[in-house]
Amino acid sequence: EVVPPVLDVRGLTARYGHVEALKGVDLTAGRGELVAVLGPNGAGKSTLLRAIMGLIPNQGEVRFLDKSLPRRDPAGAANKGVVLVPEGRGIFGPMTVLENLELGAFAIGRDKAEMERRLNRVFELFPRVKERLKQVAGSMSGGEQQMVAVGRAMMSDPKVLLLDEPSLGLAPRVTGEILDTLGALSASGLPVVLVEQKAPLALKLACRAYLLSLGRIVATINPREVKSHDELAQYYFA
Ligand code: ATP
Repeated sequence: EVVPPVLDVRGLTARYGHVEALKGVDLTAGRGELVAVLGPNGAGKSTLLRAIMGLIPNQGEVRFLDKSLPRRDPAGAANKGVVLVPEGRGIFGPMTVLENLELGAFAIGRDKAEMERRLNRVFELFPRVKERLKQVAGSMSGGEQQMVAVGRAMMSDPKVLLLDEPSLGLAPRVTGEILDTLGALSASGLPVVLVEQKAPLALKLACRAYLLSLGRIVATINPREVKSHDELAQYYFA
């Protein structure tokens, strides 16, 4: 029996006015898979994630757990478990770390035991976050804020996690920590779609990488078969 992928994007197209920023993209992510979306500035990587969430007008189909997602219903998609950690993180700077995390689990209401369970899971993923619960989120370092952003996403108990350049502006060490955690999450079963400009980092974790250029997938790469940086560069400049 063939198990369908958790997320199955088919022929996804999106435009900003006259500009067609996404031109028929196919992508899948299954249980235990971390897939990377690579490509230069302006390739359409963020647009792809926004279109999957239904944040922008789109055509084509996004199948999730073998059902079609409504085309323009980002809140509905999030409630079903399709969760985006946006570029720039989107955490609330004036609020504390704990408040930011709790917001991610607003859907569970007053179930304190469940809130505790989810918080503890985040603390296991990011021990540093636990030490900073009372801190105002905006006063944390970029890397810590990214941990809070991923932690908040995990608080909603996602069924697939989409991340837009979590490494942006971060030092290599903390980037490594965050990417390792994403690798562990996918290994535990959660499908992860990682948009990343730093291809070598993403290729270390990904089971498959999609190369996006001018709104199209121009190559699907098996990271184990990429022998050199030059080989990858040739796709970027093709
Ligand atoms: P980056 O890494 O620089 O964010 P990206 O691959 O994520 O690049 P997108 O942000 O998805 O690329 O942009 C794809 C194309 O759509 C670009 O040509 C961009 O200029 C255009 N675009 C993005 N957002 C808008 C917008 N709100 N209005 C008009 N055009 C847009």
